[in-house]
Amino acid sequence: MKHLEDIVCNLNRRGFKACLVPDASSACERALEIIGGGSVGIGGSLSVEQTGLYERLVANGNKVFWHWKDGAQAKRDAASADFYVCSANALTEDGIPVLTDGSGNRIAALSFGTRNAVLIVGKNKIAGDCREAVMRIRSAECAGANAARLGKHTPCADLGICDDCTSPERICSVTAFFERPSGGLQNTYVIVVDENLGL
Ligand code: SF4
Repeated sequence: MKHLEDIVCNLNRRGFKACLVPDASSACERALEIIGGGSVGIGGSLSVEQTGLYERLVANGNKVFWHWKDGAQAKRDAASADFYVCSANALTEDGIPVLTDGSGNRIAALSFGTRNAVLIVGKNKIAGDCREAVMRIRSAECAGANAARLGKHTPCADLGICDDCTSPERICSVTAFFERPSGGLQNTYVIVVDENLGL
């Protein structure tokens, strides 16, 4: 727990609004407090799905755009919501969230367009540094499992190794290291969860 507290301190030192919660349910409650009655876009995220946040927002009457539930147009509409919620693929010990996208939708939203972002990051995403973060993202357990989940045939999914593939089904095209929250947003919140979430 001390280790996670240090990471939260490092995130706050960089300008993120970070906190530590014990589990997925607490992460959902904290996100609901932050969001209030605002509109919400959600990026592709098993972590967010595991918190049950989408269902709680819909029940509360928030306007929600999530392409996993609401169709392809929601992926575009999500980018102009009051809040954008997703996870990171990795979080370094010195407080840098790292994301790799296929289409760049999460990275774009966390950089410019939405007013506020909320990242929900389980402790399984912690990496020692940026190099370890990229290794984690391209591992069989992360990219490989994600590609397999999407029915894609990539070396990480089929062989369990990344060879910086040229596959047309490649899922990792754009990587961003958020050394500070983007100046294009008002607030970037990071909820670190003392539980494994997502891949
Ligand atoms: S570059 Fe290709 S093999 Fe490597 S992680 Fe990405 S999709 Fe998998």
